[in-house]
Amino acid sequence: MPPDTTTTAPTATPPAGPPRRRIRRAAVVDSQRISPHVQRVTVEGPDLEGFDPARDGHGGHIKLFLPNTDERTATIPTFGPNGPEVPKGASRPIVRTYTPRAFDPSANRLAVDFVLHGEGAASEWAARAEPGHEIGVAGPGRGYQPSPDATHLLLAGDETALSAIIAIAAAVPSSTVLRVLVEVPELADAQDIASSAESTVSWLARGDHQPGAMLRSAIVASTLPAAAHAWVAAEARTVRDIRRDLLDVHGCARDNVVIRGYWRAGTANHPDHDYGE
Ligand SMILES: Cc1cc2nc3c(=O)[nH]c(=O)nc-3n(C[C@H](O)[C@H](O)[C@H](O)COP(=O)(O)OP(=O)(O)OC[C@H]3O[C@@H](n4cnc5c(N)ncnc54)[C@H](O)[C@@H]3O)c2cc1C
Repeated sequence: MPPDTTTTAPTATPPAGPPRRRIRRAAVVDSQRISPHVQRVTVEGPDLEGFDPARDGHGGHIKLFLPNTDERTATIPTFGPNGPEVPKGASRPIVRTYTPRAFDPSANRLAVDFVLHGEGAASEWAARAEPGHEIGVAGPGRGYQPSPDATHLLLAGDETALSAIIAIAAAVPSSTVLRVLVEVPELADAQDIASSAESTVSWLARGDHQPGAMLRSAIVASTLPAAAHAWVAAEARTVRDIRRDLLDVHGCARDNVVIRGYWRAGTANHPDHDYGE
């Protein structure tokens, strides 16, 4: 018989271990459609004590372990010699990569913005998430540390990168000129992007265009000095084209450009370490 995971209470003392190998349990306390294509799911639990979204840079990702259809509690793997293992007979959780949107350490409360993109196990879970669902959270992984030496920084991405862009923009030094370009399904999916840097933010409504096409055109058309730094995250093929544009059209230095493929059209569960190479 598989264990009855629905009765598993969040443990008060998280197991020791490096952050990526430690999976914290958390329970959904709220789920809101904050814009036409974004569901904000908020989870809480004592296991989130000590979680630090800016542990190693800004906009770092988390791994989420989510319940399957018809389940309320995700089976949380343990780490054995062969990697993550679930108890014999238990269902494997949905595992996907997301970004913390906000964390309140006083309440051990974490909010994550899920893009509702249609067919996709995590997107579909977010659409049905309700208080009491239990999930696992691992991470955060390494984020981006804006360089204090950058005179100009381009932050660009699609709606999946918005939580990371918001976190990075808030950490950009006031000495940097910040240009932000975000492609969203529609303008109603825009959110506030605050920064102490002198910043210009442009929202691109995708409409019927191919994902990333408007973002790429806007980046090519931007005025960027060759010394600019750039962080770009969006669909995997598009970001590879954008990398070439930044190097060839704008003359940016390879070392100053960070490219992240956050999802890949036609492929489920795109890896979390796609640096567009
Ligand atoms: C470092 C990192 C951080 C991320 N942070 C976030 C985040 O904070 N919020 C967020 O919403 N996403 C984020 N993503 C993207 C998210 O991991 C992917 O979109 C993921 O594929 C969604 O899983 P799914 O189960 O819904 O779809 P999957 O089962 O992975 O894919 C099913 C189908 O949907 C397509 N698909 C997947 N994502 C999209 C999309 N956005 N638009 C259109 N089609 C899509 C796939 O190509 C596939 O054909 C991040 C990704 C990375 C690598």
